[in-house]
Amino acid sequence: MKILITGGGGFIGSHLSERLLKEGHNVIILDNFHTGSRDNVRHLLDNHYLEIIRHDVVDPLPLEVDQIYNLACPASPIHYQRSPMKTVLTSVIGAINVLTLARDIHARVLQASTSEIYGSPLEHPQKEDYWGNVNTIGPRSCYDEGKRVAETLFFDFHREAGVDIRVARIFNTYGPRMCAYDGRVVSNLVLQALRNEPITIFGDGSQTRSFCYVDELVDGLIRLMNCAGFTGPVNLGNPDERSIKSVAELIIKLCDSKSEIVYREMPKDDPNRRKPDISLADRALNWRPKISLEEGLPKVIEYFRPISKTCAPPTKRPN
Ligand code: NAD
Ligand code: UDP
Repeated sequence: MKILITGGGGFIGSHLSERLLKEGHNVIILDNFHTGSRDNVRHLLDNHYLEIIRHDVVDPLPLEVDQIYNLACPASPIHYQRSPMKTVLTSVIGAINVLTLARDIHARVLQASTSEIYGSPLEHPQKEDYWGNVNTIGPRSCYDEGKRVAETLFFDFHREAGVDIRVARIFNTYGPRMCAYDGRVVSNLVLQALRNEPITIFGDGSQTRSFCYVDELVDGLIRLMNCAGFTGPVNLGNPDERSIKSVAELIIKLCDSKSEIVYREMPKDDPNRRKPDISLADRALNWRPKISLEEGLPKVIEYFRPISKTCAPPTKRPN
């Protein structure tokens, strides 16, 4: 098949591209390289089945493909809060553009939605029928509300125009090729530990997240895309819930680091708890992650080891 991946030059997109090329598909990566990088896909450039187009999803997309994965959007708080208006445009106009394309060429289109649509959840673990608890005017709102409107658009195009849609709600994902300076907890803490610098925990570290290794997430996306008659939305994430403090301690141990933990102010609207209920993904897609943080983190540490020896640009997390 001919498959378009918007945001294919990013962290998840590069792994998805690699996997789809391995399966023998023609892959078109469309990316404005706002947060992604050609380095993420440099090892794939010799593959004749890969095409890379520098393009912004906010502009209409004139292409002929069978399937579209819509991943284009900055994903880390530092990145999406740097230009919040652009984040909203990317999510909303980007969704309209991929949906219009899918409608016109009769392609199937998958939206990379997010656990952030649940906001700071009042139900735990989060199930797909929970509507969420989201601040409409806070610093995270550009991302959360942009992704919520994108979901709305996907289901409106499906009902009104019969577009063949899939919606995945992705929970925190980690792995090699995460952007080194995106301020996310795994990339930040691994680099700090490898450099024996202070490990920054925001708040008291009791807030939780559930981390999925990228290969398993990619497997879930492909299963969803190719599952007949199932639109989602469906949670994709590892339900193994960890406190941020315990993640910091694990990273220090795995890096054999001399770093000490320091506590910093909690960013505004930082969700307190997050854990996916994945019983729907299990039933509909026969998908359940098996890779533990203890198995996955060493691969990220090896990826970041050479990077940790290079000069670090400043990362200031906005409040
Ligand atoms: P990433 O920032 O590494 O990748 C996003 C890619 O989209 C980048 O290559 C970037 O250059 C590109 N992009 C951004 N704006 C664009 C635009 N206007 N036009 C074209 N390209 C654009 O992030 P990621 O972690 O790989 O996330 C991929 C997708 O998955 C995002 O949509 C994100 O919201 C979603 N997601 C990720 C996670 C996670 O934990 N990584 C969790 C939930 C949802
Ligand atoms: N976090 C932290 N120290 C850091 C970076 C992040 O304690 O250096 C915390 C952050 O406040 C949040 C959690 O780790 O509670 C996950 O943050 P991340 O940005 O990776 O993902 P998100 O908040 O979008 O789930």
